Amino acid sequence: MKFSWRVLVLWTLPALVIGFFFWQGAFAGAPADMGRNTASTRMTYGRFLEYLDANRVTNVDFYEGGRTAIVEAVDPDLDNRVQRVRVDLPINAPELITKLKDKGVSFDAHPMRNDGAIWGLIGNLIFPILLITGLFFLFRRSSNLPGGPGQAMSFGKSRARFQMEAKTGVKFDDVAGIEEAKEELQEVVTFLKQPEKFTAVGARIPKGVLLVGPPGTGKTLLAKAIAGEAAVPFFSISGSEFVEMFVGVGASRVRDLFKKAKDKAPCLIFIDEIDAVGRQRGAGIGGGNDEREQTLNQLLTEMDGFEGNTGIIIIAATNRPDVLDAALLRPGRFDRQVIVDAPDRKGRLEILKVHARNKKVDPAVSLEVVARRTPGFTGADLANLLNEAAILTARRRKDSITQIEIDDAIDRLTIGLTLNPLLDSNKKRLIAYHEVGHALLATLLPHADPLNKVTIIPRSGGVGGFSQQILNEEMIDSGLYTRAWIQDNITMTLGGKAAEAEVFGESEVTGGASNDLKMVTNLARKMVTMYGMSDLGLVALETQNSDVFLGRDWVNRNEYSEEMATKIDRQVREMAISCYQQARKIIRENRALVDRLVDLLVEQETIEGEQFRKIVAEYTQLPEKQQLVVSG
Ligand code: ADP
Ligand code: MG
Ligand code: ZN
Repeated sequence: MKFSWRVLVLWTLPALVIGFFFWQGAFAGAPADMGRNTASTRMTYGRFLEYLDANRVTNVDFYEGGRTAIVEAVDPDLDNRVQRVRVDLPINAPELITKLKDKGVSFDAHPMRNDGAIWGLIGNLIFPILLITGLFFLFRRSSNLPGGPGQAMSFGKSRARFQMEAKTGVKFDDVAGIEEAKEELQEVVTFLKQPEKFTAVGARIPKGVLLVGPPGTGKTLLAKAIAGEAAVPFFSISGSEFVEMFVGVGASRVRDLFKKAKDKAPCLIFIDEIDAVGRQRGAGIGGGNDEREQTLNQLLTEMDGFEGNTGIIIIAATNRPDVLDAALLRPGRFDRQVIVDAPDRKGRLEILKVHARNKKVDPAVSLEVVARRTPGFTGADLANLLNEAAILTARRRKDSITQIEIDDAIDRLTIGLTLNPLLDSNKKRLIAYHEVGHALLATLLPHADPLNKVTIIPRSGGVGGFSQQILNEEMIDSGLYTRAWIQDNITMTLGGKAAEAEVFGESEVTGGASNDLKMVTNLARKMVTMYGMSDLGLVALETQNSDVFLGRDWVNRNEYSEEMATKIDRQVREMAISCYQQARKIIRENRALVDRLVDLLVEQETIEGEQFRKIVAEYTQLPEKQQLVVSG
């Protein structure tokens, strides 16, 4: 049914409100009781009596049962012109008639103009009446819902929050870098396309597949690709859309969704963020959330309610499978789970290739290098990166995306938008010392990764400047950090604060170092608790947890005692302190070099790694690792 009462009512109400004011204007606001005898000016009763005494009044017409009068009077100040004025009369003025008679003024009484009053009354009433009628229809609709528990105003049915795409146009080719997930889901395409193949041999086709992975890894894309490959309609809704203020709305949306999907079978239903509805029931404070439970129950009922071979497959996505209600994961529901993880370097390259297909990329650009420079980027990040680069290219009026635009886009995404350079020279110097502190240590520490660049061009998000190292992709990809590498990184990270303290004194250290300190704490903690690289010995107190996104990291927290926790804290602090001492020592011993680099940085605002190393080499011997970079 295309005709919707809701739409009608929603559009009628504002029209009525506007109409109401017009009606008010036409019938209630104007002196309707005066009929044709409208008189624009008003005269007080006292003044009227004065006029009467002065024999200026020629005619009086009474209206409204004698409560008002239109008075014709001549005004000597206005060439004795006849004026018509309105006078409000006191109710108890019987002597007025006598007086008029005495003065020989002609007067007449007119009957009440009732029609005006009635229209005014209707004008006043019609708005509330229509409003009530409108609400009545809203209520009626909600109680019409099949099985609806009769809650006030259920918008579940009329406001279809799910989307239906007859053709998604996405193919498996558009999804890259998550080959395992793709392979597993290939089968789902066959379920949708040729269910007979399976039912013929008595196989039960799974109803639900749960995609598990962090945001932006391509779960939605993958689901669309399945629908696209199988050429079936794609229904999608987000779990958060189910959760509404009114109890019962979510459940009715689920019902509605499945009803529509059954009409279109074979088809694919995609439920994003299923954790929003699928959380363990009764787990919330105060006994859980009624609305969510009802929605979840409805979802379970619907899933049980159709046979596996009806051609509907439900794919749900979440990054928190651990919080899901166990009932959702039982056989016959989302019994298949497919992990969609952030891509590795090879995966990133594949994804970059997919997104470079429809862009003009300079042949000199090596996507390989881009993939290497973007550890931790998800598919969505990479798509965004190439798009940013394309925007920069257009803005710079270039024909194709070059490495420069890609590098700038990476910085923009990882660090922030570039802002205008600072004018305030004191602050600029302070930031320069801080960043040179980092950069110099990155260059002088034997195990630190070489400097890529150091800059004091500010970025959005309160970044005054930054020094950037060339990524050690080998170590990042393998996860095999050496103790020396971590230690030098801690020292390098403390280099900013160390330089500030050496140059301006400990009391002048700015808040700019607070992020650095957080990073140091993290690194040092990892060293102590994960890698067994401390005096606490060879115990892995926390297991490396790549599943942090699963929300399980708290599980490990209690694996050691209170006493051990204190020891860990002491170790972490000692490590940070000794690194800080070392950082200050290096800055102190190279003070002349630091000053020169700061002068240059303030002037140039950015120093590339190469130039930086050359200057440093004039003062002191570079470690082996850094020399390689200079020659290469
Ligand atoms: P998720 O649903 O996991 O949060 P999306 O599927 O919404 O992620 O991804 C958003 C966008 O990022 C996609 O539309 C696509 O352009 C890009 N993207 C993400 N992952 C991939 C991938 N594996 N291959 C290609 N593009 C991807
Ligand atoms: Mg998504
Ligand atoms: Zn810093």
